[in-house]
Amino acid sequence: MSVKVFSCRLWTNCFNVCKRPGRARAAAARVGQGCTRGYYNNSGRPGFTGPGGGASVRVVDLRSDTVTKPGPTMRRAMAEAEVGDDVMGEDPTVNELQKIASGMFGMESALFVPSGTMSNLIAVMVHCRERGDEMIVGDLSHLHIYEQGGSAQLAGVHATTVTTLPNGTFDLDQLESKIRHGYPDPHYPRSRLICVENTQNIQGGRVLPLSFLQEVRALADRYGLCVHMDGARVMNAAVALGVSVSTILQYTHTVSVCLSKGLGAPVGTMLGGPSDFISRAVRCRKALGGGMRQAGILAAAGKVALETMVGRLEEDHHNARTFAQALLDCDSPLFAVDMSAVETNILRFKLQEPGPSPSEFCARMAQVGEGEEEALGQGVPVLMYPHFGNSVRAVWHLGISADDTRLAVQKMQFVASEFMKETVRAC
Ligand SMILES: *Cc1c(COP(=O)(O)O)cnc(C)c1O
Repeated sequence: MSVKVFSCRLWTNCFNVCKRPGRARAAAARVGQGCTRGYYNNSGRPGFTGPGGGASVRVVDLRSDTVTKPGPTMRRAMAEAEVGDDVMGEDPTVNELQKIASGMFGMESALFVPSGTMSNLIAVMVHCRERGDEMIVGDLSHLHIYEQGGSAQLAGVHATTVTTLPNGTFDLDQLESKIRHGYPDPHYPRSRLICVENTQNIQGGRVLPLSFLQEVRALADRYGLCVHMDGARVMNAAVALGVSVSTILQYTHTVSVCLSKGLGAPVGTMLGGPSDFISRAVRCRKALGGGMRQAGILAAAGKVALETMVGRLEEDHHNARTFAQALLDCDSPLFAVDMSAVETNILRFKLQEPGPSPSEFCARMAQVGEGEEEALGQGVPVLMYPHFGNSVRAVWHLGISADDTRLAVQKMQFVASEFMKETVRAC
């Protein structure tokens, strides 16, 4: 499936959810649901009015682990952070965070960067410094699909793609075939960089096997290339494998790790690598407008994230598996799910024909339908995104408890039985 089809589909789906006429629309309005990413309610405790304007409704928000909000400990650390001018290198909290991160990563240095997108772009800029340098990326990677082509647009770097396999890896022969050998013949770009993504987001939070990383690194070494890991969720990978993150990162030259996803910080990404790489990264960050001043207020949250939030990722993985198993156990033939692919906090499952489309299913999960409160004791909007390939994507995070997961399962069973009734009636 082409990238274009995928993104159009996603937006069309989102549009359809918003524009759905009649009952669904009214119900969506009742629970305050909209399509904008600005919408947020942390599993919906206060503030949502149930149908009929009654008691407040709990919302289970499984759209992304980016919706997490800092809790009281993190907010206290932010309020009390010692700060200085980080562009002058004088913010003690930022410096501490960078030291903690480089220690965890087993790398010489680390840099606090505003976002994962900027962090990946900086890595590309530093690794591919000359015009005509080329990087090799997965065709379903975040870098290739969701970062607006920043590497071409802003860094002037040419990209070539390898096929992202369902488990997030590449075929090593295909990868090797993408390396250019013509330099300095003026016809060819120069291969510089291989980017891997761990966990692989679009394929459903897949964990790259250590053996694969080892082979990618051996290939890179053979041809004098560097390896950058988009490790937005590499902490999830480490927890899933039961190894330290430095065990994973021994095979990469540089890494980008998001603090603002499952780790719960409001802002920030850590870019790790050798000291000379990070010195150059500081320059790129400034050029991109990412040099921040009293950033210790944000770095304080990052410290809490790295020091206290990694272990609990296992709860998210467990809850994702619980929901996936419930889909499998469901009487209705609506769902297809591969349990062996549920490795971390991201679940992708398919909807089967004849049945609802992913956008119809997500719209129904988000509304509180007729009879739901009588059947379940309460109406619970459950938010998920339609994904490509006739699938739905749901993401677990620190705002979603085991109890929220149980409510989401009940809701899914209720919605599935409603769809089954409709299908039978239609026959
Ligand atoms: C979230 C994410 C990023 C970076 O996203 P930002 O929103 O810019 O912080 C990069 N790669 C992957 C795989 C991601 O999931």
